[in-house]
Amino acid sequence: MTPFPDLTDDELLRYSRHILLPQVDIAGQQRIRNASVLVVGAGGLGSPILLYLAAAGVGELRIADGDTVDATNLQRQIVHTTDSVGQAKTSSAAATLKRLNPDCQVVEIDRALDQDGLHRWAQGCDLVVIGTDSFASRYDANVVCIELGLPLVSGAALGMSGQATSIDVRRDDSPCFRCLYPDGEDGEVSCATSGVLGPLVGMIGAIQATEALKILAGIGEPLVGQLLTVDALDMSVHRFQFKRNPTCPDCAHRPT
Ligand SMILES: [Zn+2]
Repeated sequence: MTPFPDLTDDELLRYSRHILLPQVDIAGQQRIRNASVLVVGAGGLGSPILLYLAAAGVGELRIADGDTVDATNLQRQIVHTTDSVGQAKTSSAAATLKRLNPDCQVVEIDRALDQDGLHRWAQGCDLVVIGTDSFASRYDANVVCIELGLPLVSGAALGMSGQATSIDVRRDDSPCFRCLYPDGEDGEVSCATSGVLGPLVGMIGAIQATEALKILAGIGEPLVGQLLTVDALDMSVHRFQFKRNPTCPDCAHRPT
């Protein structure tokens, strides 16, 4: 007995290199196909996240971004093209994803979401992936995912280094984003002022997409309670463990 409709012959062929993986198999691909994911940010991190999740056959992608494509984005935001300069990032990304995989349903949310907006659009999703460049939006997504009991995959990249972690409040042992960063603030430093290496956001975004597919398929060990850091300059990769903060203002009320 499978909980979802069978994959069609076309789907069995298209996703065969995933289905061949014993960890994924048909059941895992069905879970991916039946999933809905909210991706916050269609920029440097959002580009590889969206491309890989659409290519992997995620059933529905909700894309939230309030920006338009700028020529300075194109060095790293590979879901957009020169032709889409001046367009809303959501519609530019949706057009690319449609060409990549017409079976993927794309919902365009062409504005920056505050906490209420995130709550509204995360409802009915299986997972939230955040690729914006602000602490404020990560804290908002963190609170919403705790409220709705949804897993959250977070990533960040600036200059020559980046990091990623997964939060899964369905697990009692999972810390939240505020357990990791109790009082992060958005300073003056951003990709616009300091620059960022193009493929670095691809690396971090691909890690986030990998985490998302693992969580959706229910396989492997996601980066829960672990912060993965990448320094592209010397290509060093590290993992740091972190635990729940019993006095965390966002998640201390959850059971331990
Ligand atoms: Zn917490």
